[in-house]
Amino acid sequence: MARADVAVVGAGLAGLTAAIRLAAGGARVHVLATGHAATHWAPGGIDLGALPGAASSQASIDRLAGIDGHPYAFLAGEVPAALAWLRATMGSAGLDLVGDAADPLRAIPTSIGATRLAAVLPDGMAAALPAWAPDETLVICGPAGFRDFWPAAIAANLRREASWRGQSRPERIEAIAVELPGIAGRHNLSGLDLARLFDEPAWRATALDAMARAIEGRVHGPGRIALPAVLGLDDHPAVLAAARARLPFAPFEVALVPPSLPGLRLFAALRSELRRHGGRLQVGEAVRGTIGADGRVAELRATAAAREFVLTAGSVVLATGGIAGGGIVADRPGSLTETVLGLPVDGPEPGHWLLNDPFDPAGQPLESAGVRTDSRLRPVAPGKPGAPLAGNVRIAGSLLAGQRYLRDRCGDGVAIASGSLAARELAGRPPVASQGSVAAIAGGVG
Ligand SMILES: Cc1cc2nc3c(=O)[nH]c(=O)nc-3n(C[C@H](O)[C@H](O)[C@H](O)COP(=O)(O)OP(=O)(O)OC[C@H]3O[C@@H](n4cnc5c(N)ncnc54)[C@H](O)[C@@H]3O)c2cc1C
Repeated sequence: MARADVAVVGAGLAGLTAAIRLAAGGARVHVLATGHAATHWAPGGIDLGALPGAASSQASIDRLAGIDGHPYAFLAGEVPAALAWLRATMGSAGLDLVGDAADPLRAIPTSIGATRLAAVLPDGMAAALPAWAPDETLVICGPAGFRDFWPAAIAANLRREASWRGQSRPERIEAIAVELPGIAGRHNLSGLDLARLFDEPAWRATALDAMARAIEGRVHGPGRIALPAVLGLDDHPAVLAAARARLPFAPFEVALVPPSLPGLRLFAALRSELRRHGGRLQVGEAVRGTIGADGRVAELRATAAAREFVLTAGSVVLATGGIAGGGIVADRPGSLTETVLGLPVDGPEPGHWLLNDPFDPAGQPLESAGVRTDSRLRPVAPGKPGAPLAGNVRIAGSLLAGQRYLRDRCGDGVAIASGSLAARELAGRPPVASQGSVAAIAGGVG
């Protein structure tokens, strides 16, 4: 049996924000998660909010904060400090983030030749953020034969004016596929394979040289270069620096299909910060717990192959990601179940979970399902804000009810704001060993 001052369930942006901040404050923190989080699938920026017509994330946050029941209604004020903390923390782990909530939302090219709105991006993607000057060329450059990044198809789509959402766009778009050393004929090459190749100094020097020569032979004048997001995994800062030094124009990475390299780097930086502060991370097991008669959760249980793991904790942060993260499951008869503590779920009626068109810009109503809390992130029953269901539990991230994180692109902002607030709420609480009731239960279980 293990003990922690705070158990965090979920290894996404929300859970790891809370965990790092608590561990940095001296708490013994143990993170448990079934699997990897949205970090591994999402494109790698920090989405604070991107509503149609909103000029900035801050404008989106302000509008969302005015919606009754949206987490930003009580979390909006947390976002600036949470983002500043994330930027400083990731920077010290070697992953710089560029951009701010007040910056304009820009149309950033995607790997299918569409654009998505973003304002806060990792350094490797940040050259896509400034507005396009009237004479600039965008060069889409990738390895020949790499099936997840087709420069000609991307360029063809980006040449359509509608792709740029009414924003500034490059004057010309060129597509260049380059033969890179040693990969010709490797049909199953993944982004991860390429990132590992770029991590090797000799290979990357040759590859960047081939790309630079191909671009220099075709494109002159001011420009920027869109590359697939494969510029290294473990040695990304060195690869990025080498690309900036060798290529004729500023490069930026374009996120690919999952697993997302920018997301993997973000997760690695978060994990290294957690470990640096002595926190523990255990991925691979579904977690369950119960709320005791005293209105507290004293322990969590994770069932792995052939054994049960028991974690006794003074407090719990539940950051299991809601319906997209596995923290809520929906069944055929129409129930929504919170998977760890069985907390009540507030969500749309069963007949209104999904729209007929999976790509409807209105998004899918089911994503708003979640756990209701008071303004201190303690879970409450829907419609009963004054009576917390578990005094030592805090809810964070996409598990919070009332947000449309995919449609409104506010999921990362809610995650860092609520993770930060949860950490502040639980900081300085008595450690588990000094809590009589918890120690007694621990003795009984152990
Ligand atoms: C594929 C995908 C793409 C997304 N893209 C965007 C985007 O572009 N913009 C945006 O704003 N938001 C996006 N989101 C929403 C995203 O969830 C949030 O942006 C934010 O990062 C959520 O962080 P989180 O920590 O709350 O949850 P998640 O990142 O979902 O993490 C949940 C964690 O909880 C764990 N977990 C779940 N159930 C259990 C259990 N019973 N026991 C133990 N562990 C459990 C999971 O394994 C995981 O580690 C996306 C989500 C997904 C799934």
